[in-house]
Amino acid sequence: MRLQVEDLTYSYGDQEAAAQVCLQVDAGEFVGLIGPNGSGKSTVLKSIYRGLTPDRGRIFLDGEDLLSMPYRKSALKLAVVGQENEVPFDFTVEEMVAMGRTPHKRLFDVDTPRDRQIVHHALEHLGMERLAGRNYRQLSGGEKQRVLLARAIAQESDFFILDEPTNHLDISYQMQIFDFIKRLNVTVLSAIHDLNMAALYCDRLYVLSHGRVVLEGPPEQVLTPENIYRVYGVRSWVALHPMTGRPSITFLPAGVQTETWRESE
Ligand code: ADP
Ligand code: MG
Repeated sequence: MRLQVEDLTYSYGDQEAAAQVCLQVDAGEFVGLIGPNGSGKSTVLKSIYRGLTPDRGRIFLDGEDLLSMPYRKSALKLAVVGQENEVPFDFTVEEMVAMGRTPHKRLFDVDTPRDRQIVHHALEHLGMERLAGRNYRQLSGGEKQRVLLARAIAQESDFFILDEPTNHLDISYQMQIFDFIKRLNVTVLSAIHDLNMAALYCDRLYVLSHGRVVLEGPPEQVLTPENIYRVYGVRSWVALHPMTGRPSITFLPAGVQTETWRESE
């Protein structure tokens, strides 16, 4: 599945949060959206998964206009793990994951044995079967995030939109989740907070700053000390890691001198 976003623009009142954003995700790619807090990552993703309607711009999925597609059809094509995880009712974990099956059903359809099997497998994949009967609202942030990912998996779509899917997780779950998503062989567009995670898992990156795409390319081109300073205002040291072949970034506290690069350059 191929996603194409053209000239996407959105304002909250008079505050422009996404401005003329263009991006593309090809089938099978794992594409990261990075940028400082408030740079517009969630706004761009919400526009794509139809959580809000852009003021301007066009979005295509395999050449088809996403914004005029029936909601149910777009829900079948895109699985979403968003940032706002709060639900107003006391759903169990199993019920939350079963919601992933909703776009496959008509109103009043009951769960089939196949639906239940898919839900069970999704929970099992994420090591969550034990928690199936628990109240979702009483889980920790990290457990909630795994449930939302299980729900996306139960949906069986081959395009995942993720908004900082690991931001509540410790390093072992962060790695597990990204390794897991990689193995699903789906197409991914994900906002990622952690630049080293983005470097490890993404084929390509788009960098947002003040709602605009300011850089794009493979991690080794995008994640240079110069670019990181320009966008985040922090100094860093970057080397290609001998084992992963990916950029590995060390952030430098004030007082540490770098010979190879200074802010003035
Ligand atoms: P990011 O996900 O990169 O942190 P967001 O897309 O959430 O950025 O936010 C982009 C900008 O839009 C920020 O300045 C933020 O304060 C603003 N913003 C986000 N959501 C709302 C909202 N519901 N109402 C008003 N402003 C918002
Ligand atoms: Mg966000």
